[in-house]
Amino acid sequence: MVIKKVTQLIRSLLFPTACIYCGETPYLICDSCFKRLRFRVFQECPICRVISADCSPCTQCRSKTDLDSLEYVFTYGDEAKQLIKQLKYSRFFAHSDYIAKILVKWFKFKKYKFSKSDLWTFAPSSKASIQKRGFNQVEEILKSLKKQNKIRYSAMFTKQKNTKRQALLTRSERLTNIKGRIAFKKGFKIPRTIKKILILDDVATTGSTLSECCRILKAQYGKQIKIYCITLARPKQATPTDQLPSLT
Ligand SMILES: [Zn+2]
Ligand SMILES: [Zn+2]
Repeated sequence: MVIKKVTQLIRSLLFPTACIYCGETPYLICDSCFKRLRFRVFQECPICRVISADCSPCTQCRSKTDLDSLEYVFTYGDEAKQLIKQLKYSRFFAHSDYIAKILVKWFKFKKYKFSKSDLWTFAPSSKASIQKRGFNQVEEILKSLKKQNKIRYSAMFTKQKNTKRQALLTRSERLTNIKGRIAFKKGFKIPRTIKKILILDDVATTGSTLSECCRILKAQYGKQIKIYCITLARPKQATPTDQLPSLT
């Protein structure tokens, strides 16, 4: 086990694009490991996870959130977890290019067309975590999508400090803790040509930070807001079927 881990570490240092699961080169995720990632086909209410075809909150949950819809790409599991971990803590920006490529294929599969009248953004990280990591991993994916000339994006939010660590709180504590702590960056304005706002996130838990982003966006602009997450980290309550579409 230790030898395998050391070999993988050496390989990842020598070959930063080696498969993040098995260490084989030259791909970031080799063909056989790619098949282990489970794509989400049936979507759910982002709060209670009953099936909801348009990914919007169900009638019972509508009053508990400001989210209009939250759709995610991968079912949460070891593979998705590791992908996010790599994205968060690796300095190899090839990872964000690779995930951007997967997203392009996934959006094509979902029949979403990239449009310059859509404005993409991401939930703000605290200053402390940006300082610690040196980058925001979701912004890196948006940069990669922009590089491919697919999207317009803007870093529109700031997060005030002193927020207790969301990860340590319950859902209702998270909502109260985050309320009023997210704001638009100074001088930020959404251009008039923008029709829709899309927020990309890596891993959603209770969705309370995303809900707060939606609340201030709707209060100021009243735009339609769609949220896409790479994965949703929550225990499964509903049992929708997963199916791997052919993306390659
Ligand atoms: Zn592999
Ligand atoms: Zn619900």
